Amino acid sequence: MTRNTSPILPGAAIGVLGSGQLGRMFALAARRCGYRVHTYSPDSDTPTGQVSDVEIVGGYDDLDAVRAFARDVSAVTFEFENVPAATANACMEMVPVHPDGHVLHVAQNRLREKTFLAQAGIPCAPFRHVTTLRQLHDALDALGCPAVLKTAGFGYDGKGQVTIDAPTDADAAWETLGGQECVLEAFVAFEREVSLVAVRGGDGAFAQYGLIQNAHVRHILDTSVCPASIAPAIEAEAERMARAVLEQLNVVGVLCIEFFLTQDGRLLVNELAPRPHNSGHLTMDAHATSQFEQQLRAVCGLPLGSTERLVPAAAMCNLLGDLWEGGPPDWPRAFALPNVAVHLYGKEEARPGRKMGHLTAHAPTPEAAEALARKARAALHPLL
Ligand code: AMP
Repeated sequence: MTRNTSPILPGAAIGVLGSGQLGRMFALAARRCGYRVHTYSPDSDTPTGQVSDVEIVGGYDDLDAVRAFARDVSAVTFEFENVPAATANACMEMVPVHPDGHVLHVAQNRLREKTFLAQAGIPCAPFRHVTTLRQLHDALDALGCPAVLKTAGFGYDGKGQVTIDAPTDADAAWETLGGQECVLEAFVAFEREVSLVAVRGGDGAFAQYGLIQNAHVRHILDTSVCPASIAPAIEAEAERMARAVLEQLNVVGVLCIEFFLTQDGRLLVNELAPRPHNSGHLTMDAHATSQFEQQLRAVCGLPLGSTERLVPAAAMCNLLGDLWEGGPPDWPRAFALPNVAVHLYGKEEARPGRKMGHLTAHAPTPEAAEALARKARAALHPLL
């Protein structure tokens, strides 16, 4: 498909593969700018579908239905990176797809991702490719314990990974992951986890939001805070790596890099997410242009927006289904707090660990913003 260099203008329809909360927030940003949104996924009444103009229910492997979806829109993007390559390729026969199938191919497999990073000279934790139990033992000998065994494909939010504390745990870990192709990573005793949300336009323009500091609970993102209050030299290094990743993968769209910051001030890439990211949700309330509008601008070939932070500091707390355990959350208590914004994804069933929404807060300092976001979340709990 030859690249259409004239921008896709408001009034056009944009297609989204996938129908979760990232698609929902993208659709809200797109509709605010006057675009129509069509979403395609196997489910109905979805977080994205609820706020789209058209919700198409179909399997990702039903390529005729995928082509019909793509035919009716001016460009396609995706909201999760496990969209099968054949699905993205079927769309690419019809319209531009951003980011393209190659970016998906690299980012949806940890081995390909780490191989790309190594070739690009971008540091990540030492790793070994593991396809048999024998290779797992050899890899543990090489990397030492503790180490983290991760399935090569289809992992997110800590799914498909097991920490191995001693070589005697290897057989059980291998069994837990079902003997699939894996990557064994050295355990990183990080000082902090940070992420950089960056965006690249079709013309090569680049923008980023500065490092965001993240905390995970049970491998799922819990809180994000910005600014991360990190030495300017480390911020500059993160930007240099992000520029290299986006340019070398020829990304058009938003890409988030999750980093470990080691005790001695080195950044190691943990993971690439070629789409808006949970840690960037605070950009919706804290920055001049949200990560979702940036995705829209990049996909449509429009100028990128300013990433200026409009508040001194901001924080985000995820709202997981666990919060519903003692009954429905007490929403008015969170809405009552000044400088707090409530975002909910329209999901009916609150399962433990399921991302149901998030809260953002802003304050004069990162510490105060985080404290306010946590206070708002605690206020939701009917038992507190
Ligand atoms: P992932 O699904 O790879 O993003 O991992 C989820 C979380 O698990 C990370 O954000 C870390 O908190 C933790 N984790 C993953 N890999 C490692 C590692 N090699 N060393 C230490 N912690 C890790």
